Amino acid sequence: MSTMTVEVNGRRYATPTRPTVVIVIDGFDPAYLEQGVANGTLPNLSLLQKNGFAAIADCCMPSTTNTNNTSIVTGVPPSVHGINGNYYLDPATGKEIMITDAERLRCGTILGAMSQAGVDTAVVTAKDKLLKVLAYKMSGINFSSEYANKANLAKNGIENVEKLVGRPTPDQYSADLSLFVLDAGVNLLSSVRPDLMYLSTSDYVQHAYAPGEPEADAYHQAVDMRVGKLIALGATVAITADHGMNDKSASDGSPNVVYLEDELNSRFGAGSVRVICPIADPFVRHHGALGSFVRVHLRKPGDIPAMMEFSRSLPGVELVLDKLQVCERFDLPVDREGDFAVFSDRKTVVGARREDHNLSQLAGHRLRSHGGLGEQKVPFLLSRPLNAEYRKRAQKGPLHNYDIFDFALNGIK
Ligand SMILES: [Zn+2]
Repeated sequence: MSTMTVEVNGRRYATPTRPTVVIVIDGFDPAYLEQGVANGTLPNLSLLQKNGFAAIADCCMPSTTNTNNTSIVTGVPPSVHGINGNYYLDPATGKEIMITDAERLRCGTILGAMSQAGVDTAVVTAKDKLLKVLAYKMSGINFSSEYANKANLAKNGIENVEKLVGRPTPDQYSADLSLFVLDAGVNLLSSVRPDLMYLSTSDYVQHAYAPGEPEADAYHQAVDMRVGKLIALGATVAITADHGMNDKSASDGSPNVVYLEDELNSRFGAGSVRVICPIADPFVRHHGALGSFVRVHLRKPGDIPAMMEFSRSLPGVELVLDKLQVCERFDLPVDREGDFAVFSDRKTVVGARREDHNLSQLAGHRLRSHGGLGEQKVPFLLSRPLNAEYRKRAQKGPLHNYDIFDFALNGIK
């Protein structure tokens, strides 16, 4: 392999000298790692802590999936790449839009630039809706496990994925949707052996099961085993998460919810505001579109400071910032922010109107979700030790999940 560097969004990345695999374990809260290391179900991740590098990094806010996957593949925060949630209100049309393509992406990706520089790159993701951003301007193998049976040479650079992995396309709502991604990664590494690979799972299990529950242990153990296989095949493996995950229910099992749009409209007049939940995702059953961060858009001129003050007084709300404050503090794009932003605490979710959220989808599970500051901490792991410069940088901080390519490509001994 060559040893040139490629510049992407103001940072330089060395092309890989050995196969490099970046894994984003969706919803991998540090609590799962601690639990699995303590009870011995994560032997390979424990070895990374011993032989490689392990730290806790910050994810981008809101702590949602596509915001953070985009940050990780671009190496920059949302103020640069533009993707600030799964779901948004288009101020030009007043329409509410789910992000399923790369239309709002404002910059290139590390994977795209590497592939254009001749590095053999591959992307496998659980959820197909992420694929257009992850494989943006990238040539090489790219597919989702969700549509594994539809992958074709023209569009995905690969066919017969079910044969490659050795089983049929998994159910969209299953742990196997993610394990299929990792098995595809293992099989690609032992066959076509891409120089650089990005594997992104789904947080189906973490939304449903807390650290210590047998289903959570079994899933992370299965992930760990596949990480071991990738390392055994000679890859440098780097692992982080898009966000953490917390229990958002009361002791009786009922979810702790602030219906902020209902509260604001009943206090300041019907139709005063629309609340947008950037976590909204029809592809996730287990959170009812409820997370710990929302954007408030005024529907008509109103007293923003008074609305913010009132929001602050609601139980479970931990932080309220106006448009400029939230953009400055969390590196968000000003032109895509609401009039103000509301964060609920680690035990509480914040939503729009009661009717916007279907909690019957929880199907008896306690509500577990993310989106806020309580889910900002994520593991940051590398299978090989850092060089002196990057050890220093990691110590000095801040360390973000979107530094993972930099560390994997530039920071390894
Ligand atoms: Zn996620």
